[in-house]
Amino acid sequence: MPGFELWSDKERKEVNDVLETGILMRYGFDGSRKGIWKSKELETAICETFGSKYAQLTSSGTAALTTAMSALGIGYGDEVITPCFTFVASFEAILSVGAVPVLVDVDDTLTLNPAAVRKAITPKTKAVMAVHMCGSMADMDALLAICKEHNLVLLEDACQSIGGTYKGKSLGTIGDAGTFSFDFVKTMTCGEGGVIMTNREEVYTKSDGYTDHGHDHKGGADRGADLHPFIGYNYRISELHAAVGLAQIKRLNEFLGIQKKNHAQLKNILAQIPEVSFRRIPDPEGDSYSFVSWFLPTEEITRAVVNEMKAQGILPGNFYWFDNNWHYIRKWDHLKNSITLNSLHPDLKAQVIHHASKDFAASDGVMGRCISTAISLVWTEEQIQEKGEKIVAVIKKVLSEQSVSL
Ligand SMILES: *Cc1c(COP(=O)(O)O)cnc(C)c1O
Repeated sequence: MPGFELWSDKERKEVNDVLETGILMRYGFDGSRKGIWKSKELETAICETFGSKYAQLTSSGTAALTTAMSALGIGYGDEVITPCFTFVASFEAILSVGAVPVLVDVDDTLTLNPAAVRKAITPKTKAVMAVHMCGSMADMDALLAICKEHNLVLLEDACQSIGGTYKGKSLGTIGDAGTFSFDFVKTMTCGEGGVIMTNREEVYTKSDGYTDHGHDHKGGADRGADLHPFIGYNYRISELHAAVGLAQIKRLNEFLGIQKKNHAQLKNILAQIPEVSFRRIPDPEGDSYSFVSWFLPTEEITRAVVNEMKAQGILPGNFYWFDNNWHYIRKWDHLKNSITLNSLHPDLKAQVIHHASKDFAASDGVMGRCISTAISLVWTEEQIQEKGEKIVAVIKKVLSEQSVSL
């Protein structure tokens, strides 16, 4: 899964270019930077690699989501539909612009259930945030149709699915805007960083200003001459981080190729067991292969398998999201109680609590049976074989014990 595993001289070289000049900031200092503009280069590379018209780098994926929502005009009074299985950044970003996170069920794609999205629409719904979890995509045709019918903004959180596609288009470039995260564990990394991609010029222009205190970047070499058409924040990436990303994006195809190969080998081993099924992928060709996500028949069996893997010391790298504190609604007590440091408007607070405390039994039925195995770039064939066989042995052991106890 993560590009950091193959850290190399290429990343060091790009970072060293920046260290040579000492200009660590992405804007200004034109004279001293000797033509080194890593952030701009990376934005151009992102547009070319993923087929987006515009790209705006940010300091994190979370900042990218927040920026995208502001640039898309989402804020006070708006409801944003988002899945109950995602990373906490989804609702953090929605709350950061003062909108209401409306959590809805996921299905066996591990992403938004389109029927649940439809049911959650109210006159206040402004946007749908599709999160392409664990390397693979949401049902984009269904979500695009819903958004079109109800005139909603579609924002894609593709932070976990860099390099994935849907019907030939890169994930993150299909909706009104999309985001990647380049944090340390993502498919390609900057150390910390993120990007907003969009084909809409005004969404890009607003993102560009918003991430840099509202600067319009029209003052030439003098930042003091820039105007501020609106209020922004500082969500800038640094040149050091962008330099790492620039090396990594040039290696992305290599990373994705290894992921695909390792994924296929591991999946084939797990598929030997008839009781194991796999996540449904709306466009199987477009998987980025960063995880194999698999299901067991019941929550009880899954939990027993997880416990046995833990006992045998083979759990690391395998994720049982159902019990995980930062990916699934079940453990988001801070959200369910709306615990924020700054006080929220009482109406917003009540809505947050309401939407986080709904019934997610349909998602529990999926997530309680799901284990995701992260695909490493540095595994050897022998290691994959051994890992796969150990997992298979654990599953067989648990299944035989369960049938004995029946
Ligand atoms: C990693 C991630 C983010 C946030 O990215 P950061 O760069 O860590 O802020 C957002 N959404 C999803 C689904 C992620 O996995």
